[in-house]
Amino acid sequence: MITRMRLISVVLVAIGIVCVAVSSADAAPWGTVPVQSDVAGCRGEYGALENVSCAVALTQRWLSHTGRSSVVQETVRVTNPAAGVSWSPENRDVCVYAELGAVIALGLHHCNKVTFYNPTSDAELIRTRSRAVTTLVHESSHGVQESVGLRPVSATITALAFGRTAEIRTMELASDCWSGAAWTWFIGQGHLSVADRSEAITFMYSLPDRPTHGTGQERGRAFERGIVEGVAACNQILGRPAYT
Ligand SMILES: [Zn+2]
Repeated sequence: MITRMRLISVVLVAIGIVCVAVSSADAAPWGTVPVQSDVAGCRGEYGALENVSCAVALTQRWLSHTGRSSVVQETVRVTNPAAGVSWSPENRDVCVYAELGAVIALGLHHCNKVTFYNPTSDAELIRTRSRAVTTLVHESSHGVQESVGLRPVSATITALAFGRTAEIRTMELASDCWSGAAWTWFIGQGHLSVADRSEAITFMYSLPDRPTHGTGQERGRAFERGIVEGVAACNQILGRPAYT
């Protein structure tokens, strides 16, 4: 969850002090640990680490199914302290991550083909399998958006700095829709159950209102549109054909 002060601090720290280039496709960014993909973590309720490994595995399968395997190169756990910045040539946008003491926690987000999370600041988002799967598939949507030239990070900065939230909110709600569409497929494939999905729906409606992401009601509705209507609805929400 990125606040304006945190964002400004992060940009200063990331650019001024660390300035680590993470554009290499081969190495995990400095201060991060790659998460192993493991579908075995989906077979029960274990712990947060297994939930994330399950979510990475199912996200990969969904991306493969939709022909989008390349949009998430890796998912990494950000240690503390850690920070860095990179430049994505694909969509010409900056990408930052940071966990610095108790002061800065950018937490779960995706940019430049990497999904970042921190087990402490994101504890509520990965507490159950359903939550972890829902949130990590959502993040992969930002990878799809990057692949068609959209700039979720710049749109977030614009929203936080100038209050112009429409662009990023559209991208966030489309991502909630994408996650819902994935859930229908996960159930069809036997990876998760209808009861798991009910938990995910409740989770989406319970999310706090945020100018950049919309209200819990809006997010829950976008998620359910994805479940019922599939990825075509996500294109409608986004206002352009990105997902099909
Ligand atoms: Zn998002």
